Amino acid sequence: MTATPHVGTDWLARADELDRTDPLAAVRDEFLLDAAPDVVSYLDGNSLGRPLRATADRMAEFVGGQWAGRLIRGWTDGWMQWPETVGDELGRVALGAAPGQTVVADSTTVLFYKLVRAAVDAAPPGRDEIVCDTDNFPTDRYVIEGIAAERGMTVRWIDTDPTAGVTVEEVRAAVGPRTALATFSHVAYRSGWMADAVAITDAVHAAGALVLWDLSHSVGSVELRLDDWDVDLAVGCSYKYLCGGPGSPAFGYLATRHHGTLRQPVQGWMGHAEPMLMGPGYAPASGARALVSGTPPILAMVPLRCGLEVIGRAGMAAVRAKSLRLTEFTLELVDAWFGDLGVDVVSPRDPARRGGHVTLHRADFREVTDELWRRGVIPDYRDPGGIRIGPAPLSTSFLEVHDGLAVLRDVLTERPVP
Ligand SMILES: *Cc1c(COP(=O)(O)O)cnc(C)c1O
Repeated sequence: MTATPHVGTDWLARADELDRTDPLAAVRDEFLLDAAPDVVSYLDGNSLGRPLRATADRMAEFVGGQWAGRLIRGWTDGWMQWPETVGDELGRVALGAAPGQTVVADSTTVLFYKLVRAAVDAAPPGRDEIVCDTDNFPTDRYVIEGIAAERGMTVRWIDTDPTAGVTVEEVRAAVGPRTALATFSHVAYRSGWMADAVAITDAVHAAGALVLWDLSHSVGSVELRLDDWDVDLAVGCSYKYLCGGPGSPAFGYLATRHHGTLRQPVQGWMGHAEPMLMGPGYAPASGARALVSGTPPILAMVPLRCGLEVIGRAGMAAVRAKSLRLTEFTLELVDAWFGDLGVDVVSPRDPARRGGHVTLHRADFREVTDELWRRGVIPDYRDPGGIRIGPAPLSTSFLEVHDGLAVLRDVLTERPVP
């Protein structure tokens, strides 16, 4: 723990000042906040974003207007193209991806499977390894284990430090002539470590392999430049910082240079070049559309479209700037209040390596989290002993961070340091 630089600071006044000077403060009023009067502080924007007011209205309009009014005609009116149109909008607003490379479909897990399979199936003979780190999100690890078994491949695990995250040095040491694909989370779900996507992508390419980034914890919180970074493939979910709602669909990115050569294995009719011909044999649609398999989850894209509108208006540069101010403020409070309470900061203090959340560690944080929830403060708990403070840049105020951590301080003061 570093020495407290802010002894004597009036933290409530500081939170108030940060809110008054926050260029995105007004955006918070666009969210449906009053529905949770028991919530003192919502600090889990990295797990499930809050809904926008517009989302509630737009869902009702969609059901009453488009669904009830257009019925089956809705598909030819435009629903059929939503995977690409919403994907392009997401690419423009949040991914740094030119049109034609992003689709919205499936869950992250399923789309991840499809993209990993597409990449390894296209690898030349002798490239029979998938490189991944041991601290990657569970679904990613499980899926590549399954694919390795199914395809007779080997997973080369980078045993990374779970209090930090994967580094370019570790990646350079792991990739080589046998690597087909390397895949990592851009922002680590546990520590919030933001990997150096540019350097790691280059290192994987230098070894002659492809890279797949899982952006679930980055999209909508940090700036992404997939085209500029020369990324091959990417996936991510839309219910975290994009506010798509529980179970909203995932997105997949396939760089234009791989269109036609990388083919995903779930050859459904909706990824067919001519789905309504219903003919014999599968012929993939051109471009990223070929990543789609079954009927697109139209209803579940309505909230995502609302989220993208707000992010588009705010601009990702402003969103990231606020996210960093929120996590910086979190760290200031932690240093000022928790110095003697046995709390460790697991997340990077370096803003260049820090994603959208801050993870704190103490051995009894599982029970502490239960107590926080009882008192209306909602972060989440991740083993071992980690509380993730995940302020959402669009919907979390500095006062909310202050109030949440003040309750955490109260709870910790009441308990013996383990
Ligand atoms: C949240 C998250 C997922 C979620 O996968 P689902 O299929 O939507 O359950 C995947 N990967 C990462 C890195 C995540 O943070």
